[in-house]
Amino acid sequence: MHELSLIANLFEILEEKAAEKEAKRILSVKLQVGLLSGAVPELLKTSFDIYKKDTIAAEAELEIIEVPFKVECNVCQTQMIKDDLVAVCDACGSIDLKTLQGTDLFLLKMDVEI
Ligand SMILES: [Zn+2]
Repeated sequence: MHELSLIANLFEILEEKAAEKEAKRILSVKLQVGLLSGAVPELLKTSFDIYKKDTIAAEAELEIIEVPFKVECNVCQTQMIKDDLVAVCDACGSIDLKTLQGTDLFLLKMDVEI
């Protein structure tokens, strides 16, 4: 399951950040998930709940914010939302597009108890 390895990576980051802050517990985690990241939010939650046992985040809640796939045209600088990685600019028809968000996971916020 792809999501389990994503969550394993997330936990490495969480534990590192928690150690930096000398936190006792992680209370909640907010994750931004791109609609084209290939990760299914429900499976991320399930994986998180499996993985968090016996960790500093054992009682943490995972909140997922889903974001659309957003691109900017390198020719005319128009920004637009797309639902496919193969996209064409709505304004000028260029295929020279830059991805702004929507293809990856991003840790937005983590609440801890010190
Ligand atoms: Zn354009």
